[in-house]
Amino acid sequence: MENKDYDYLIVGAGLFGATFAYLAHKQGKKCLVIDKRAHTGGNIYCEDIEGINVHKYGAHIFHTANKDVWDFVNSIVPFNRYTNSPVAIAPNGKLYNLPFNMNTFYQMWDVKTPAEAIEKLDEQRKEAVENMRSAGITEPRNLEEQALSLIGRDIYEQLIKGYTEKQWGRPCSELPAFIIRRLPVRMTFDNNYFNDSYQGIPIGGYNRLINGLLNGIEVRTDTDFFGDRNKWENIAEKIVFTGKIDEFYDYRFGKLEYRTVRFETETLNQSNYQGNAVINYTSAEIPFTRIIEHKHFETFGNAIYDNPKTVISREYSTEWTDGMEPFYPVNDDKNQAIYEQYHKLAEKETKVIFGGRLAEYKYYDMAPIIEQVINLF
Ligand code: FAD
Repeated sequence: MENKDYDYLIVGAGLFGATFAYLAHKQGKKCLVIDKRAHTGGNIYCEDIEGINVHKYGAHIFHTANKDVWDFVNSIVPFNRYTNSPVAIAPNGKLYNLPFNMNTFYQMWDVKTPAEAIEKLDEQRKEAVENMRSAGITEPRNLEEQALSLIGRDIYEQLIKGYTEKQWGRPCSELPAFIIRRLPVRMTFDNNYFNDSYQGIPIGGYNRLINGLLNGIEVRTDTDFFGDRNKWENIAEKIVFTGKIDEFYDYRFGKLEYRTVRFETETLNQSNYQGNAVINYTSAEIPFTRIIEHKHFETFGNAIYDNPKTVISREYSTEWTDGMEPFYPVNDDKNQAIYEQYHKLAEKETKVIFGGRLAEYKYYDMAPIIEQVINLF
């Protein structure tokens, strides 16, 4: 058999590809990583604007309950203590802490103890269920009815309805109930969004994580696998493919659909625009879903005033079309059926490993991506 130049050609320098390359390189394998973008890092890539790491493809907060994954990423670059505690600006103009916890209930109803909050929540749920019953509805038929029966009218109208409608581009009454199976509430004054034991941001930004993973590995950016497929298919013993699976198979079963986010990023001549990294806008009247103020991911306390500028991004949830970034797979029945056909072909490949969010057509957080690659080795 003819000797190939590399053991692995890794298509995509995102977190999956970079972690794979790192672990293969450690085992003495010769890897070449290619990416069609002008930079490495995939969706976790940050751009330096005014000394601030701007999350180019959406805010990324690393969180995990898996100590091995946490130790792994921290061995590449130490992480800071960032804790995600988003705030919502509601249609009534007031601010509410998220996730739903004692602070939210105090802000919504002026209740001060868990017992008072439980009583109010029960009253709200009961009222919603009774309203539905008197309309002859016994089982929630859509997301609106599901949310009302789980949490009641006040929280639904102020904090869920408008936000969800903007995210999906459709009224809640036309969205399936299963999207919201549970609406967790916390009977403590705890604004930490995640339940995981570990969370943070790499000190110095995500590019440090990616650069650390790819250290000593040959990388070519601005290089599309499909630009010269024949060459790339023959350059290595094996291919790790982290691009779109439908594209790999020439869309023969049809195109998979996505939702995406459009970002409007602005540099402001002030140190502190909103006092928090993430503010959700839950009113349907405001077209964007969130404003991200990037410096708060890495700068804490009064140090935020050391930089006279700040960078914010408004996020608009958008239908995906060709040429846009494919962010969130639409895992409905139609798309899932198309994916299954591609997946069947992929399972038969002996030379190609498919991995990551595009090749598996599945939304993955960062930590599960790393866990998956560690398990492969
Ligand atoms: P990607 O990062 O997409 O990498 C794939 C790479 O392949 C890309 O660089 C692409 O250019 C390249 N590629 C594709 N096709 C080709 C080709 N033909 N030739 C060459 N290269 C190609 N996770 C969290 O844990 N916390 C968060 O807060 C969080 N927030 C998110 C916010 C948004 C808006 C999105 C979209 C995702 C978020 N994630 C978050 C998930 C996180 O982005 C993913 O887990 C991670 O990026 C997956 O890495 P990947 O390598 O699979 O994919």
